[in-house]
Amino acid sequence: MAPPSTALPGRTLISASAIQRRVRTLAHDIRTHYGDHPLTVVGLMNGSLFFLTDLTRHLPPHTRIECWRVASYRGRTSTGKLRGLDAVISGDYRGRHVLIVDDILDTGLTLHHVQRKLRALHAADIKICVLLKKEVSRRHRLNAHWVGFSIPNRFVIGYGLDLNHAYRTLPMIRVLPEARKEKSLA
Ligand code: 5GP
Ligand code: MG
Repeated sequence: MAPPSTALPGRTLISASAIQRRVRTLAHDIRTHYGDHPLTVVGLMNGSLFFLTDLTRHLPPHTRIECWRVASYRGRTSTGKLRGLDAVISGDYRGRHVLIVDDILDTGLTLHHVQRKLRALHAADIKICVLLKKEVSRRHRLNAHWVGFSIPNRFVIGYGLDLNHAYRTLPMIRVLPEARKEKSLA
């Protein structure tokens, strides 16, 4: 029987091995920064699924992990709205040092609202770690304290990042060709 087609969309931007190497150095820097201070890591699902898992494997045993499910994208475009933060948030954040872990910083909408929510829950200190940061002028100004890779302003998939729920399982980051422009009627 013929094997299933292995053709994948786009081209590899960051290889699986480069991701794993960078995740280890990020985890080392994070460990050094927090030392023995108790830490809660909040991973934003589903995009940070693999990044959160690989990163926190290298953090101390007393590290707490919480997963928040939020979404702002539909297909290849940001809806400009964040869904999911009204749901019941588990965990106790009062007085805690919190590290938000997300797959990618794009417009900043997601991390802006998540940060605000954590402030309302009285977290003592909030920092951000993203695997990818797009080189764009952001609608929401915010500071990501740890960034894996800066990438061009293009749509990417793999290592947790999806296109309409597919391709999250790829071990590398791939960049898709630019979406075709709508045909002009002029
Ligand atoms: P922001 O709220 O900063 O605009 O976008 C953050 C969220 O949008 C990310 O957590 C991710 O879920 C989604 N996103 C932004 N850019 C991309 C992209 O290039 N590819 C994919 N698959 N998701 C993206
Ligand atoms: Mg996301």
